[in-house]
Amino acid sequence: MSRLLLFDVDNTLLWSGGAGGMAMGQAFGDLFGIGDGFKGVEFSGRTDRYILAEALRQHGIDGGYEAHQARFLERYYAHLPQALRECEGKLMPGFPALLDAMRGRPDVRLGLATGNFSRAAQMKLAHYGIDAYFIGGAFGEESEDRAVIVRRAVERVAEGLPGAAAVVIGDTPHDVSSAKANGVIAVAVATGRHSVDELKECGADFVFKDLSDWRRAAATLTGEA
Ligand SMILES: [Mg+2]
Repeated sequence: MSRLLLFDVDNTLLWSGGAGGMAMGQAFGDLFGIGDGFKGVEFSGRTDRYILAEALRQHGIDGGYEAHQARFLERYYAHLPQALRECEGKLMPGFPALLDAMRGRPDVRLGLATGNFSRAAQMKLAHYGIDAYFIGGAFGEESEDRAVIVRRAVERVAEGLPGAAAVVIGDTPHDVSSAKANGVIAVAVATGRHSVDELKECGADFVFKDLSDWRRAAATLTGEA
């Protein structure tokens, strides 16, 4: 059976060294004169839309997400390239070998189900040289609810390939729950802040410490193991 592999970005494909949070904080400071605007907002596994909306709520800023998103995105995208250069991040273990093994298979499509704003995802992936592997997906501006992002990613990446089984690969309980909410296979990888045991407890179908054994991971992701 064909497979749609939908990857989370931060702490799954790569670690940006904190560049995303740094650039978002700089953008928030530019707009509202508040340093540390995202202090106290949980980033892990959340969509960027949720993160910005929550910071606006916490600081009592009128108008909400819709009122501020355009100016925020403009500032965020202006800061992110420099932040990516300054922060020393890395690809996670097993990448890009796993992607190389999957690319070109007629029964596999590679996509993204990420909480990142779309251009931020593109910038991060390009910075670490893996942007060309993915044919599409759904992104953080689309909803505060990660389950909506997963649903849209499945619809888009599946187009023209009916009957394919979708798999979400992510590092947080939010990735797992948003997959399960859509009847999608959840593969969790403990390369972020959550342990193998925590990810098992939240209902992931498969849990890896990391994907350094990319051949084994490939077999799981394609349903061959
Ligand atoms: Mg993540």
